[in-house]
Amino acid sequence: MQDLMKGKRGLIMGVANDHSIAWGIAKTLAAQGAELAFTYQGEALGKRVKPLAQSLNVDTVLPCDVENLDSVDQVFDALRKKWGQLDFLVHAIAFSDKNELKGRYADTTRENFSRTMLISCFSFTELAKRAAEMMPASGGAIITLTFGGSVRVMPNYNVMGVAKAALEASVRYLASDFGPRGVRVNAISAGPIRTLAGSGIGDARALFGFMQKHSPLGRGVTLDELGGSALYLLSDLSGGVTGEIHYVDSGYNVISMPRPEELKA
Ligand code: NAD
Repeated sequence: MQDLMKGKRGLIMGVANDHSIAWGIAKTLAAQGAELAFTYQGEALGKRVKPLAQSLNVDTVLPCDVENLDSVDQVFDALRKKWGQLDFLVHAIAFSDKNELKGRYADTTRENFSRTMLISCFSFTELAKRAAEMMPASGGAIITLTFGGSVRVMPNYNVMGVAKAALEASVRYLASDFGPRGVRVNAISAGPIRTLAGSGIGDARALFGFMQKHSPLGRGVTLDELGGSALYLLSDLSGGVTGEIHYVDSGYNVISMPRPEELKA
């Protein structure tokens, strides 16, 4: 199928480099005819994001740090001036202090709990609200990225698991709030990928390796596969779908324990 996103304009937030999940999603959407704008967090990342944007002929590349609400408002002001309307939003933003992505969740500090929640969870509500206000009467679509550490304990994921649980609850509440306007809100729960954020989790290599090995497909997921699922959730293909947490994790979430032959190995 071709041109599934033709005529649609959307904002991609969370590209840091060409390993970013947001980049995989952006490439797929652009290949299907979407017109994109990007944000980047700080000038150091801007140097990486601008050439990537250029390679997709994207000329709207704006700074935005979600801890600074003025920078968020400036992005939406700029898009309102340039496009008037917005058809979709991709939120692929998360942060927590690396020192607390190891050891016990019980040792999370108050300061890092609040910061993790603001950046990784509440930013989605603030951004989705602004995006939905710009969406046409015919509706629009919004996605965020989550991880299975929201519903089951994953070693070292700690406060980020708690933030992702709240993020997933936000998806359901926002889907209800914006549903009457035809705006759909969903999340992709991605299997582990070695990105900048992914590598911040303690013992990432060992944990990711275990999950990939013990998933039904026996492997990790690719950026293209995440892009394909995002395309489904952001295009008219998923017109009747909202409030969903869609797993793209080689099926790891359905497994309770390794197969007997793997236990004996
Ligand atoms: P990444 O490091 O490429 O992307 C994380 C992005 O968050 C970066 O672009 C960073 O600039 C941005 N960010 C952090 N703090 C910010 C702030 N204050 N303001 C604006 N932007 C900020 O890593 P990724 O793995 O592609 O992460 C994207 C999303 O996918 C995150 O929500 C992450 O939790 C989620 N996710 C990742 C995995 C994985 O294994 N990598 C699995 C499931 C879900």
